[in-house]
Amino acid sequence: MRIGAHESAAGGPYRAVERAIEDDCESVQLFTKNNNRWEQRMWTDQEAETFRETYADSGLQGLMAHSSYLINPCSSSESTIEKSRVALADELERCQLLGIPYLVVHPGSHTGRGVEEGIELIARNINRVYDEHDDPWEDVTLLLENTAGQGTSIGHDFSHLGDILARLEQEDRFGVCFDTCHAHAAGYDMTDRSSYEDVWEQFDETVGLSALKAFHLNGSKKPLGSQVDRHEHIGEGEIGADAFRFLVNDDRFDAHPAVVETPPLENGDPSFAKNVATLKGFRGT
Ligand SMILES: [Zn+2]
Ligand SMILES: [Zn+2]
Repeated sequence: MRIGAHESAAGGPYRAVERAIEDDCESVQLFTKNNNRWEQRMWTDQEAETFRETYADSGLQGLMAHSSYLINPCSSSESTIEKSRVALADELERCQLLGIPYLVVHPGSHTGRGVEEGIELIARNINRVYDEHDDPWEDVTLLLENTAGQGTSIGHDFSHLGDILARLEQEDRFGVCFDTCHAHAAGYDMTDRSSYEDVWEQFDETVGLSALKAFHLNGSKKPLGSQVDRHEHIGEGEIGADAFRFLVNDDRFDAHPAVVETPPLENGDPSFAKNVATLKGFRGT
């Protein structure tokens, strides 16, 4: 795995790359816009060039963006769905401009419509985003993230992801980002070797391992199957250390970017260096 972190882009996207270098990362994830706002001006060509150069010179070997939390293509509100389509196209455009090959998106929350209709709407609206743009984002792969299952969120069962992917028209433009905290909260146990292998067997049957392109490596404060999404430091909390040992030494995932999204340290230090070092320390163990 290319172990890294979700870094702040405060000061401009290139700053996320600089922070990743400081944390001794091998990969980086960033927001390419304010994640709690619908609109923001596009980056200029100069800003994009600065980002591309900083990344190219960084030695990092994995790059991904996380999309805004506001996007929900299966909301009960038609206007939210419409804004989500515009926002998704905007985020894909930013990735294309900055040279970011992966964009992670949460599938959505059906807010009472039910899972079936939710899945249908997510697929229909993603297809529409691609249909409505002439030359869409050919260097970007959109990754659906598995979820913890909080509220009415879709994507906590692997089959949800498989069902959405099966309905998307341009297959090669889509994939999955796997979050360990979300999987644990959703009831997928990876804490011992045999359950770990079972989880990947289930994933392969419902989604397909070839669709898996990236990871979020997070511990979980909440127990197996709790459906509550609270990230914990690597090796602490309910997942413990072994699942991460299995992951970083699993040669199926050698070249996958795998970033931590862990909370600040107890002294308030927001640096990810400690969690990145913990993961690297599991190599060969
Ligand atoms: Zn996420
Ligand atoms: Zn989470």
